[in-house]
Amino acid sequence: MNLKKIIAAAACFTIAASLSGCGNIKKDSGKLSIVCTIFPEYDWTREILGSHAEDVELTYLLNSGADLHNFQPTADDMITISDCDIFIYVGGESDGWVDDALSEAKNKDMKVIDLMDVIGDSVKEEEVVEGMEAEEEEEEEEEPEYDEHIWLSLRNAGTCCRAITDALCEKDKNNADSYRKNLESYLGQLDELDGQFTEMIGSAKTDTLIFGDRFPFRYFTDDYGLKYYAAFVGCSAETEASFSTIAFLAEKADELGAETIFTIEGSDKSIARSVIESTSSGDIEIAELDSVQSVSDDKVKSGATYIDIMKSNYDVLKEALN
Ligand SMILES: [Zn+2]
Repeated sequence: MNLKKIIAAAACFTIAASLSGCGNIKKDSGKLSIVCTIFPEYDWTREILGSHAEDVELTYLLNSGADLHNFQPTADDMITISDCDIFIYVGGESDGWVDDALSEAKNKDMKVIDLMDVIGDSVKEEEVVEGMEAEEEEEEEEEPEYDEHIWLSLRNAGTCCRAITDALCEKDKNNADSYRKNLESYLGQLDELDGQFTEMIGSAKTDTLIFGDRFPFRYFTDDYGLKYYAAFVGCSAETEASFSTIAFLAEKADELGAETIFTIEGSDKSIARSVIESTSSGDIEIAELDSVQSVSDDKVKSGATYIDIMKSNYDVLKEALN
């Protein structure tokens, strides 16, 4: 379906939505309109806007709590994107829908920020470590698969925030000073937390994390020299771990004397539990790290921030590693 058809199909809904005052459709308000796909982008932009956040239309597109790997835009989303002034997205495998959305966009002056582009050489390929469940082989030539979870490095976060600030300053010159000031203060917070992680992990009694789950944390663990074992690479769509994967992780846990098996948010923890049951001691706890990739609108309304979620990861790791 092309965009015109989507717009036509959405027209009735658009009218209904504007009448009822809901929906994210941009009105002709003259306000700067910014669309962010995932929560970290949205939160960073909000931080840099500071008190000006009220003067712009800032849209958090994936606000349902679904993660970016399963997202498809609605007709309503396509309209919002079509005439926004700044569009921010990750630029990985899961964003295949973005090219279509942008090629049909009405606003030809749109500033588009592809964050994997922004961090450039810091982009990492997905890494398969020993013991991981093999992904289904594809017939095609093997192309490198890049890890999309760039926001889990606080250092990448800083780089992304600089690029977002440049775009804001370009589109809204009058408030550029204020955006640059907000950026500096936010970079200070990122830096401080980065330092805290370095210190805490540097003095931890173990340097290896075992995930009975998917593993989106590679950018994070690489920043601090942590090693890891996990059931699946990245956010693999696989959900069933084989006996050999469970057995491998359990053996590693025994060998390393692990006291914790990690999962990511929203996990049913069944793999982690199976791993623990297969260890010789069985006396291992489960801890959850939040990959910040599925933050629902409810959590946003109750005040979730990127920094706070990363701080809660700090607390979990401190408890588990020390
Ligand atoms: Zn993911």
